[in-house]
Amino acid sequence: MRLNLFFIPFLLFGFAIESKAQSTDPLPHPGFELDQTRSDPDRPVRKLKKAYQGPIFDTHAHLDPPRMNKGNLVEVETAGDVVKSIRKAGVDRIIIMPVPNEGQMGGSLDGAKYRKKLLKKGRGIVNRFCGSQYITNWLHDAYHNGYKSSDLDRVLEKLSKDLGGSECFGIGEIGLYHFNKTGKQNVIVYPPNFEPFLEIVGRIAGKRAWLDLHAEPMDPSGKSYEKKVFGGLALLYNRYPNLKLILAHTAMTNTTNVRRILKTYPNAMMNFKPIRKHRKWRNLEPITNSKGRFYQDWAELFEEMPQRFMVGTDEKFGRISKGDLGPKGRKVSKYPKQIRRMRDLLGSLDPKAAEFIAYKNANRIFTIN
Ligand SMILES: [Zn+2]
Repeated sequence: MRLNLFFIPFLLFGFAIESKAQSTDPLPHPGFELDQTRSDPDRPVRKLKKAYQGPIFDTHAHLDPPRMNKGNLVEVETAGDVVKSIRKAGVDRIIIMPVPNEGQMGGSLDGAKYRKKLLKKGRGIVNRFCGSQYITNWLHDAYHNGYKSSDLDRVLEKLSKDLGGSECFGIGEIGLYHFNKTGKQNVIVYPPNFEPFLEIVGRIAGKRAWLDLHAEPMDPSGKSYEKKVFGGLALLYNRYPNLKLILAHTAMTNTTNVRRILKTYPNAMMNFKPIRKHRKWRNLEPITNSKGRFYQDWAELFEEMPQRFMVGTDEKFGRISKGDLGPKGRKVSKYPKQIRRMRDLLGSLDPKAAEFIAYKNANRIFTIN
């Protein structure tokens, strides 16, 4: 008996050390009833009407840094070019941020430097989100290969600096699950209960800054990560109830789940983009058909909860894709065309809902008058 009592403090102490060493919260169940059905790509769509003519606030776009090629700087779009095409598109305000994989781009220059330049050039129009280039790929590598606590400290220090400055509107686009959808994307995979991720989110929540998060709940082969992604969402909100979260690309799940997410988490917002090439968005619930019309269920959800969605074109300034290289190796921007399509889509919604989604929500959450 005496022996047992003698051991109790050791057992308790041992337990404390153990839980600290693991220090991983188990993933809770998603905080809502998950609907795992995939929507029919041939379901009814909303007809186009007159295009929306009002202001546009694009809350999610990217600027890739120029690359070095054989000692030469390859800059396909300068800051001046980008501002010109934003103006030409008739966009009133835009948030530029690093793509989740920017930390992996070999041969690239410091992206933050170029986005700063763009901010100066587009004062009053361009704002930026920060951080992903030193957070996302670091988290992936740290999860798979291990990390030193001094490395995490360095990331947190940089993040605090960004959060403390006046330039960063928020943090993003942070990737959590980001699969190879196009055949040439780097994969990002780590679970949302990975403690360094939670610490990073904690810093962001503590500063009441917005976090733009890209989390794919399905991989292209059809493997489900839904319980991980949405359990992760529950974990984030358990830990940081005031977290200001923007789920990128309508959370890449069906309207039933999106409705439940928005009802469960009043601080969550979503941005959206039309997806015409469904083969590059497999199992991720595109909100438009291949002709770029809203599916009826999405249009109805946008009208039911118009205060929760924002435009997020996902434009990649500074990146060349097939067919957009013009004279002198400069990019011919497709951004104005993308915005015309966005205006067509917004015009197919109830006009009051369209206004909230086009710019009023973004003005409200980023307190712009
Ligand atoms: Zn994204």
